Amino acid sequence: MFYDVGPKYTQSGPYGTMPAVSSQPQIRRNLNKRNRLSQVMTSDHHRDTEFMGAALEEAQQAFSLGEAPVGAILVHEGTIIARGHNRREWQQDPTAHAELLVIQQAAEQLQSWRLIDTTLYVTLEPCLMCAGAMLQARIPRLVFGTLDPKAGACGSLFTVHQDSRLNHQIDIRHGVQEESCRNILKEFFQQIRQDHAMTTKS
Ligand SMILES: [Zn+2]
Repeated sequence: MFYDVGPKYTQSGPYGTMPAVSSQPQIRRNLNKRNRLSQVMTSDHHRDTEFMGAALEEAQQAFSLGEAPVGAILVHEGTIIARGHNRREWQQDPTAHAELLVIQQAAEQLQSWRLIDTTLYVTLEPCLMCAGAMLQARIPRLVFGTLDPKAGACGSLFTVHQDSRLNHQIDIRHGVQEESCRNILKEFFQQIRQDHAMTTKS
């Protein structure tokens, strides 16, 4: 019998139902460890949400410039060191995606092509080009908002971030501020369609 006091299962936590009380030191230690882990996870998740907010601000800037609203930031040891948004139309450059722009800025900032200890936050799932650049830069972690079923290379069409044939893999979390990341794109393309309809009418 492991538990000597009270009901066995009364608390539910992020790991499912947890034992309520225990007099066994080892189990108590494990429970404390679990609680600490869940605190770390909660604060990481909270930080991810905040950083995605900064990427969304970048997406908003792209929107106001008439660019498909995708924004990205790059965080190094807890600090934003690069931020950018899609500038493909503005620069007439097919490679001017938000992720590539922040990777270039960050490499300049860190004076290194290896972006170790960094996390890239982007509102939309990266394409093949950007996922390739992330692998080249050895970025260890990627957080993105919404999936791109038509061009996404990190789970949708391809899974290059976890291809064991390559010499680097990227940890991924997606679905952070998903609705906002999706809605800004939806709104942008709705507006484009409306403008197009108006022009063809007149
Ligand atoms: Zn891209």
